[in-house]
Amino acid sequence: MYKLRGHHLFCLLGYRGMGYSEEYVENMTHLHQTLRENPNTLIQLVKGPDQLCEKYPNSGKYHCQDENIYERDAVILEKMGLKIGQILSWKDIESCIRKFVVPTDIQIVCETCSWRSYGVCEEGIREIHEEKGLRKL
Ligand code: SF4
Repeated sequence: MYKLRGHHLFCLLGYRGMGYSEEYVENMTHLHQTLRENPNTLIQLVKGPDQLCEKYPNSGKYHCQDENIYERDAVILEKMGLKIGQILSWKDIESCIRKFVVPTDIQIVCETCSWRSYGVCEEGIREIHEEKGLRKL
């Protein structure tokens, strides 16, 4: 079972193999592939830094404890009708995305994220709506 914070549920949709460091990318790629190949994998929703934050590099500004990131987590979980501590499969998370999320939500909930302008996270949400699942890297 993986432990993930709210906003990383969205980040996984737009993940294209880019990240903050080699170690960060390796860890995220492993998670992404696991969820893609086995959507029954269980996820526990947590508050604050999770298994992706663990590999955030020491260099650069650590943003994982920033208040606005906690707020983003909370807004995303609320939007999806989910709660901290809940355990559900990746497949169920995709269903919640289809039910409660639209691609343009990224423009609002992720307004300050430097990755937003690439457009890949919106594209990822569209692909979940089209039942395509996570993209092959
Ligand atoms: S815009 Fe940033 S925070 Fe939002 S889903 Fe994409 S990578 Fe994650």
